[in-house]
Amino acid sequence: MHTASLAARSLKSVWHPCTPMKRHETEPLLAVQRAQGPWLYDTDGKRYLDAISSWWVNLFGHSHPHIRAALADQLEQLDHVMLAGCTHAPVVELSERLAALTGLGHASYGSDGASATEMALKMSAHYWRNLGRPEKNGFVGLAGGYHGETVGALSVTDVPVFRSAYAPLVRLSATVPSPDARLARPGDSAADVARRAAAALQAWLEQHHARTAALVVEPLIQCAAGMVMYDPAYLRRARALCDHYQVHLVVDEIATGFGRTGSMFAHQQAGIRPDFICLSKGLTGGTLPLSAVLTTDAVYQAFYGTDAAQAFLHSHSYTGNPLACRAALATLELFEQLDTLQANRLLAQRLSTAFAPLAQHPRVRHARHLGMVWAWDIETSLPGFAQRYHAAAKARGLLLRPIGSTLYCMPPYVLDTDEVQLLGSQALAALEDCLRQEAQAQSNPRNDK
Ligand SMILES: *Cc1c(COP(=O)(O)O)cnc(C)c1O
Repeated sequence: MHTASLAARSLKSVWHPCTPMKRHETEPLLAVQRAQGPWLYDTDGKRYLDAISSWWVNLFGHSHPHIRAALADQLEQLDHVMLAGCTHAPVVELSERLAALTGLGHASYGSDGASATEMALKMSAHYWRNLGRPEKNGFVGLAGGYHGETVGALSVTDVPVFRSAYAPLVRLSATVPSPDARLARPGDSAADVARRAAAALQAWLEQHHARTAALVVEPLIQCAAGMVMYDPAYLRRARALCDHYQVHLVVDEIATGFGRTGSMFAHQQAGIRPDFICLSKGLTGGTLPLSAVLTTDAVYQAFYGTDAAQAFLHSHSYTGNPLACRAALATLELFEQLDTLQANRLLAQRLSTAFAPLAQHPRVRHARHLGMVWAWDIETSLPGFAQRYHAAAKARGLLLRPIGSTLYCMPPYVLDTDEVQLLGSQALAALEDCLRQEAQAQSNPRNDK
């Protein structure tokens, strides 16, 4: 199958996400035939380094032999069985391991991140209802927060482009200021910003706690907002305030979990324990859709009984799918076998060195890095910078998709020395390509379409 024809058929038959469809007339689809390690191969055999881990899900490269073998073995034994009234080894073992890793338990499963968000919201509000406080059913999140795009999840997703059209369908939650470290005033530290944002949270909770079920946050990095990073002091303060005002703390680790920020989970860097954790994306190493919510014994006990109205009945057809659970188990095994968190510290140093010329580029503001995430705000007047950069990077054999004018890299954990060098040099070269286009547009503005 030829690239052009597969892409053309796709545009006729598939509704692609995250891009207005007509734009694909000038932004061609990448028709991927196969993938190996960090590389995607298109239908013409050209390869691309997947520097954003296929939307932040792929941790150990594509087609990892350990995960593949686990899936093949599972397929021989049990493909799927409903989880209502049935159970199986992969879901039990995964739940036990996730409990050991998070210090929470009672895992409930969905398929996508957004359904994990919805489970956490429902469980939190239902908890308060079971305690005789049904008025505690509101939520509060951070400005710019992203927790998924289904109608329930949109209530805590503060991204107008995803939400505005559906505002009439959504019960919009309140937002409090983000502790975005870029807001530091001269002489300020990221911790000072965190303290100010926490003071705003306190003021909000002081007024609204009686009607609030939970605070929902992306810990340490608000990824979809453009890799907005903040100081762990905010999470410590948020935990204390949630305790004081009797409000749950939900940490959405869908993007930040599984080593992405340097620790297994981002909230662990603040030394806190949340009431709910939402997991997805890297959970299966980027092979199959799976999400999970884990919570405390106290929350679980509030639902424990024989009364259906008191119980958490939430279900999906594929809840706890054995193949997905097995892929997740294989992924967690890789963390141990490869000592991934330690190995990533060394890999991150090499990547930071490779990215140093980019970080020091005169057009870059707020170069930032945490764990296996790097981001740079680009000062540019080039219209459609994100699309132009994406195209320039693709021409150079890299898959990178800036968010607005924020360029970021979120690579899989398996890059070798050559791949690190290539990523650093080509990411910079793609920026220079865009800046040349900007210079051309400025010298001949009417040609810029
Ligand atoms: C991606 C993401 C989600 C939504 O996950 P989907 O699988 O896309 O529904 C929720 N929260 C965060 C923090 C995310 O990054």
